[in-house]
Amino acid sequence: MEAEIISVGTGLLLGQITDTNRPYIARALHDMGIDSHHQSIVGDNEKSIHAALNLAVSRAKLIIMIGGLGPTTDDLTKQVVSQFINQPLIPDSYTLSKLKKWHDDVGIEMADNNYRQALFLKDAVPLKNDFGFAVGSFYQNTIGPDFLLLPGPPWEMEPMFDQYVLPLFTKTYCNGQALSSLVMRYFGIGESRLSQLINGLIVNQTNPTIKTYAQKHEVVIRLKATSSSENKANNLNKKMATQINQLVGDYFYGVGEHSTLEKVVAQLLQEEEKTIAMTEVFTRGLVQSTLQNVVSNTELVTGGFNGMSALLDLTDDEIELSGDNGAELVKRLAELTQKRLGANIGLAILAEKPESIGHQEYVNEKVWFGLFDNQQQLMVTSQIFAKDHQDNIEEAIFVALDLV
Ligand code: ATP
Ligand code: MG
Repeated sequence: MEAEIISVGTGLLLGQITDTNRPYIARALHDMGIDSHHQSIVGDNEKSIHAALNLAVSRAKLIIMIGGLGPTTDDLTKQVVSQFINQPLIPDSYTLSKLKKWHDDVGIEMADNNYRQALFLKDAVPLKNDFGFAVGSFYQNTIGPDFLLLPGPPWEMEPMFDQYVLPLFTKTYCNGQALSSLVMRYFGIGESRLSQLINGLIVNQTNPTIKTYAQKHEVVIRLKATSSSENKANNLNKKMATQINQLVGDYFYGVGEHSTLEKVVAQLLQEEEKTIAMTEVFTRGLVQSTLQNVVSNTELVTGGFNGMSALLDLTDDEIELSGDNGAELVKRLAELTQKRLGANIGLAILAEKPESIGHQEYVNEKVWFGLFDNQQQLMVTSQIFAKDHQDNIEEAIFVALDLV
């Protein structure tokens, strides 16, 4: 099975937007045993899209086009494909009613070009867009390659692909077998160490397949199982996940393509009805904003301080970090933060100042973390970060979240 992926968008060509959609889809196709031998980017231009299609139909059995499904005049993908394969565009009633309801709710009249978003290829399967309005389509062709059209924004495309396209593709291209994938996320361990720990499972893998991926601050394991039903495939993954976590469960924090450490932490705090407050001398309020960005409950974070003196009523001498009092100081900070801000948990982060901080320069920074839960100290620990100052800060945010 040969697929060709075409990203459409002038912004991509000009380097204003980085194309993350093509690698996302290429990886998913590869996991399914579908090769994408050719991939390209074309601008929002009828002739260019046409030329790309001419080439693609000559060599691929499945053509995937991403972007240009929206309402504006530079969104041309559907229209060009429709002409190219001589298949009219028709409105998807679900998307139309969603569009109408949205306009009614907001109290504005729907402009004509908004209808364009609801159009899809006749005889295709319309693909719901749970995060936007542009409907996708999967058209199985009897006389040429199949077409999959997806919206450009990754936050629309990725969920659409995972939820609606993957099961369709498995049914269509993988002998009717059901496919299930499970993404498991790990923090605090590198890819090579993790692979080493689960090596016994990796070398014996058959179904599910096990793949590890190093990401910026974490490692991801992707399991893919096939079976006669989705349930059975899910169970195969679950069993393997249990075996994996018997070996590396200490570093595991959550499952899912779109899960993040901050989301998992926020969810746990919400479930346990705990509030948190922080004093972030090193991370300057970034743990607080990272958490607040993902919570709906604004009371989860009861407050925070970026510096020490305002909070503590301590003398300059008392807050002088001298190298050997880090543990004591971070513990006091965490405790005072928890008490002053009336949270269940107090978190404090501070660092011993390195000799100098230059731009783009690697620098060793020893960072102290303290966590205090009501009356009782939970944890004090330190870690040395050795990248440039900005990266060290970023890393410290995730370590703090992990500790929480
Ligand atoms: P919309 O209804 O939002 O216009 P669309 O399908 O028409 O959807 P485009 O107009 O092509 O999508 O792109 C909309 C936005 O999505 C772009 O401005 C960009 O931010 C993002 N985007 C598009 N294509 C890609 C891509 N290949 N990789 C990453 N981001 C993309
Ligand atoms: Mg658009």
